Amino acid sequence: MFTEDQPRIRNWINGQFVDPVATGATTQQYLAVTSPYNAKVIGHVPLSTAEDVNQAVAAAQAAFPAWSNRTIKDRAAILIRFHSLLTKHANQLAEMVVLEHGKNKAEALASVLKGQETVEYALSLPQVAQGKMLEVSRGITCYDTRVPLGVVASVVPFNFPVMVPMWTLPIAIAMGNTMVLKPSEKVPFTMTKIVELLKEAGLPDGVVNLINGTAEPVNALIDHPDVKAVTFVGTSHIAEMVSQRCHRLNKRVLALGGAKNHMISAPDCNIEMTSTDVVNSYSGCSGQRCMAATVLLTIGHQQELIDKIVAKSEALRAGSHAGEVGPVIDRASVEKITRYINEAESSAGARILVDGRPWTKEHQEGFWVGPTVILHTNKEDAALHDEIFGPVLSILAVEAAEEALAIENANPYGNAACIYTNSGATADYFIKRFSAGMCGVNIGVAVPREPFSFGGWNKSRFGNHCDITGDGGVEFFSTRRKVTTKWVPQENASWMS
Ligand code: NAD
Repeated sequence: MFTEDQPRIRNWINGQFVDPVATGATTQQYLAVTSPYNAKVIGHVPLSTAEDVNQAVAAAQAAFPAWSNRTIKDRAAILIRFHSLLTKHANQLAEMVVLEHGKNKAEALASVLKGQETVEYALSLPQVAQGKMLEVSRGITCYDTRVPLGVVASVVPFNFPVMVPMWTLPIAIAMGNTMVLKPSEKVPFTMTKIVELLKEAGLPDGVVNLINGTAEPVNALIDHPDVKAVTFVGTSHIAEMVSQRCHRLNKRVLALGGAKNHMISAPDCNIEMTSTDVVNSYSGCSGQRCMAATVLLTIGHQQELIDKIVAKSEALRAGSHAGEVGPVIDRASVEKITRYINEAESSAGARILVDGRPWTKEHQEGFWVGPTVILHTNKEDAALHDEIFGPVLSILAVEAAEEALAIENANPYGNAACIYTNSGATADYFIKRFSAGMCGVNIGVAVPREPFSFGGWNKSRFGNHCDITGDGGVEFFSTRRKVTTKWVPQENASWMS
């Protein structure tokens, strides 16, 4: 029933692949994994249960004392070897991302390299993660040290099979934690290669474990008393549920959610550069990025800019090579995206300037919707407000900066926003007023690069309000021990000394 080209995924516990306890080798509790390019089944992923989670947490808990007792330099040395292995296997990992996720090859490779950047930051932590020390009163010195939390859990979405796991894993283990990670059931393959590379790099068994499945293992991880902190990345409604469940248990949590990112084009923007950037932002990775900007608010009607966006969108072709647009993740996604385009079409005053729906019929196999550009006149159109997570750009002309900001500020998400302008003063005006955690000036995908942390505001981030990656990751994955010392008895001692 599981063939070589349709292998079954196994969990990774204590340094080896194991079948889930309850499922054994039956297909009953497995989900089919399909390649978005042709809808062919490429494997089966188990629906692990709380029992499997218990085993993984036990392995991580057993590995914790020895791992956390090593020096940070020692732990980072393993990450240095892992970094070289990522370089050596980057192409293979990118091929796996193409197969299971549907990114084009260049996007897949870029995502692996971006994940590697967080490994670089993590292996530099021996230089930057030190505590502080101060003589606070004569003869009395305070210092603090960063202490790992214990077993931490990381739950990740489908849209970046390597990069998002790399937002948490390297920093968490460099700081001395052990981890149970739950990949997305839609893209479970690539992380199975990553854990093998970690083992080859010398990571002790049990430090990183993988549990596959959907909601049940996530809830079991949150509820497990030995899991000290949880990170989650995914849709907002599940992020909020995860965050609330953790809060009820007084458990540390960082839960990143969905997004609806806005771009504003000022009348003085560079039309050539802006049009290219806008098209890259909404259509790159087929729009399946939490940083994709999918609403363009033009200040005044900017026909030349719209014409260029339309021409550049129409020139895009379907495929898996650099510059081509790949499929979306599954049939449900095709249906959701199409529904939003249909609804916009029937809204009074909206015009579909570029229509990606024919791609669905032209590519009978796989899950395809082409780049789509909608010109709206009604501010209430759902496509302007909801996260569609596909290659759809909504354009709306507004009269003034204040109107653009009111629309951006009113959106419940707050991941990213971008202003296109040639004026520093205009850029400054918008950046200070956007209600978004990650802002761009002439950059539609304003991803902060290491050592800066990644994280939105509002309904794009729930929990203990650290950011992920960078120094936010260090803060999240450690706690501070504060020590006050006195070695020389002090004359005129007060109760403070
Ligand atoms: P998703 O919420 O469907 O799934 C995310 C993870 O949650 C998966 O591992 C899934 O198995 C698990 N899950 C599913 N149902 C669950 C439940 N009821 N309880 C607990 N866990 C559950 O998200 P997705 O479709 O895989 O990913 C796309 C979403 O992720 C988009 O909304 C995108 O904006 C968001 N995202 C956000 C960021 C960010 O940094 N803010 C980054 C990447 C993706």
